[in-house]
Amino acid sequence: MPVPRERDTGRAGTPTRPLGADGTAELVDTHGRTARDLRVSLTDRCNLRCTYCMPAEGLEWLPTELSLTDEEVIRLITIAVTRLGIRQVRFTGGEPLLRKSLEDIIAATTALRTDEGEKVATALTTNGLGLPRRLPGLTKAGLDRVNISLDTLDRARYAELTRRDRLPDVLEAIDAAVAAGLHPVKVNSVIMPGVNEADIVPLATYCLERGAQLRFIEQMPLGPREKWQRGAMVTAEEILAQLRTAFELTPAEEPRGSAPAAVWDARGVDKRELAGSIGVIASVTRPFCGDCDRTRLTTDGAIRTCLFSRSETSLRELIRGGASDEELAQVWAGAMWGKLPGHGIDDPGFLQPDRPMSAIGG
Ligand code: SAM
Ligand code: SF4
Repeated sequence: MPVPRERDTGRAGTPTRPLGADGTAELVDTHGRTARDLRVSLTDRCNLRCTYCMPAEGLEWLPTELSLTDEEVIRLITIAVTRLGIRQVRFTGGEPLLRKSLEDIIAATTALRTDEGEKVATALTTNGLGLPRRLPGLTKAGLDRVNISLDTLDRARYAELTRRDRLPDVLEAIDAAVAAGLHPVKVNSVIMPGVNEADIVPLATYCLERGAQLRFIEQMPLGPREKWQRGAMVTAEEILAQLRTAFELTPAEEPRGSAPAAVWDARGVDKRELAGSIGVIASVTRPFCGDCDRTRLTTDGAIRTCLFSRSETSLRELIRGGASDEELAQVWAGAMWGKLPGHGIDDPGFLQPDRPMSAIGG
């Protein structure tokens, strides 16, 4: 495919893509993909210290003045939805519940309409701490779905893994989200070798009993460097083998599309009444980059085309320098045009990105 020459908005070094006559464009790239799903990181801070994500002492947090204000975040989401074809917005972090204005940002997002007059779908990825008391405000703001992270049901192991003794709070959050009708409540679990492999079947049982959809995520090289080794990680195949000791698994009929999880219909081998769906996200061993439809906005206003990007395009200084919506949309479209075909984890020259997962937004 011929690559059109990138135009410049007059700000040296920032590739841009022209918009159509109506001031809109789609976030397409040179590999034929179109981004429809925006991940917005609302803070790099967190109240847990999961060992695979952060060191015990935390990280050097972004100074407040470098983080986007509520007004700036809402402006960029509005541009993404009304000009750039974004159809789903997921709020993440760090821990997004630490952003006090989360409900306001979600309400502003759900008030938007796409150029086809549709409401955008909104979702939240959270560790669940403090979720029950925020749920009335979040549902009033129009939040559609929630993913809650939980890697073990063993209290001591949870405390060791997250460095905080908060398992009961997370379990309460899952029940509260199910009761609030945020269907389907999804639970994210990262399985690590020698840490929580024994939790695979109990986590699946727990979620099926509550009607929550469990998503196992292969651990990715995004946290402290010593915590991930390609040869030692627990693979999707190993997770499925464990699951098959307790469940019959058949591939779900629903087409996968650009969703990262391969979804299975599960039914208990002994407990036949236990049935539902379980997903496995094999980001490392079976990358789905060819179907990726994501674009990311970091807390400090950078566009990332991929979790693993080694470069990013900052919109913060453009906004603060008075750029118009059209200019910002052109720069965003220009950044996405250059999206690489894949994350390259298996390439011999692979380098982990400098930003940790919590600062990118998982
Ligand atoms: N704090 C929120 C949470 O934990 O749900 C949102 C941010 S967290 C970075 C988003 C998701 O990324 C969580 O489900 C977490 O388990 C996952 N995650 C973090 N580090 C990871 C890694 N190295 N590999 C795979 N998943 C990871
Ligand atoms: Fe915090 Fe989420 Fe990272 Fe755990 S995975 S330390 S909850 S940002």
